[in-house]
Amino acid sequence: MSEQKIDTRLWSTKAKNLTPYVPGEQPKHDNLCKLNTNENPYPPSPKVAAAITAELTDQASGLRLYPAPESDELRQSLATTYGLAPEQVFVGNGSDEVLALVFAAFFMKERPLLAPDISYSFYPVYAETFGVELITIPLRDDFSIDPDDYRRPCSGIIVANPNAPTGLLLPLPAIAKMASEHPNAVIVIDEAYIDFARAEEGKEVSAIHLINEHDNILVTQTFSKSRSLAGLRVGMAFGNASLIEALTRMKNSFNSFPLDKLAQAGATASLQDPDYFSQVCDNIIKLRDVMSRELTKLGFEVIPSHANFVFARPPQGNASEIATSLREQGIIVRHFNKPRINEHLRITVGTIEQTKRLIKALSELSG
Ligand SMILES: *Cc1c(COP(=O)(O)O)cnc(C)c1O
Repeated sequence: MSEQKIDTRLWSTKAKNLTPYVPGEQPKHDNLCKLNTNENPYPPSPKVAAAITAELTDQASGLRLYPAPESDELRQSLATTYGLAPEQVFVGNGSDEVLALVFAAFFMKERPLLAPDISYSFYPVYAETFGVELITIPLRDDFSIDPDDYRRPCSGIIVANPNAPTGLLLPLPAIAKMASEHPNAVIVIDEAYIDFARAEEGKEVSAIHLINEHDNILVTQTFSKSRSLAGLRVGMAFGNASLIEALTRMKNSFNSFPLDKLAQAGATASLQDPDYFSQVCDNIIKLRDVMSRELTKLGFEVIPSHANFVFARPPQGNASEIATSLREQGIIVRHFNKPRINEHLRITVGTIEQTKRLIKALSELSG
């Protein structure tokens, strides 16, 4: 429907005033090299399809019955995978939905929410949707986070770690420090890309390792990126049982069955194939290094990435034109027309073939 024909007469003020999040596009062309939305180039574990098929063909229960409202089996599997109790685990229809419930449960308060100025662009959208005042804290010039900048009254802090679209990783001691300095605020660490982060020798990267010590840290993760299941819509949160209970109440005041039976079965099966999972993550990390090296050779300034994408500035800073030229050849990358980052491109790590095609196209453009 074109913009002019929309009749908003019957809409609520809320609906009229929303500015929805715009996801990276999903064009349908043949031979498209889609490096714009950080999907995994590899298929999910074959165990996922097997489990979904079993669920579908189960005549006795199958889709005839409602799913388990609290996704017990999936939550138990996640708890086992991460060494937690099921009461410390929450699941939702994608981590975007989990984040929506997080905003409603923890940030709809008098004090403002703090987030980096350059981060996941859904946070400002949710802030508006839930009437939460958001104060953005500028990243340093090198795009890193200075935890000391967050020393101010707030209802909570939300940080993507590794951050998107920069790919930079905030070390756990900095997160622990923020949590200690704000005992009455919820510190949400959005770990959508954490499985691609490389730990230094003897160190952990996931804030899951902090939740037993800090009752105000909530970690969100997703099956969309590292587990190749963006289409299944499964996300999760890990935290103190009281935080999880708030999310559960919020969910049950909105939708008791956010995860259908197929999603619960598929996600659970994915956790039961840890070898496949680590192989996929290792491959992507290797390909990320290949892509980073090749981009550097072409003169790009590449930020060392801990995610399944690379954030890089082309030598002439003409990111928008490059994105347009690549698109004409069926290669889609993400350009953000925003202050501070409009000379950068965010490029998802693809297969070796996709990487070669990208690098070839970029060298032809620069040559
Ligand atoms: C992709 C992404 C999400 C959303 O993941 P879904 O589980 O697919 O909803 C959340 N946060 C960040 C930073 C992401 O990049």
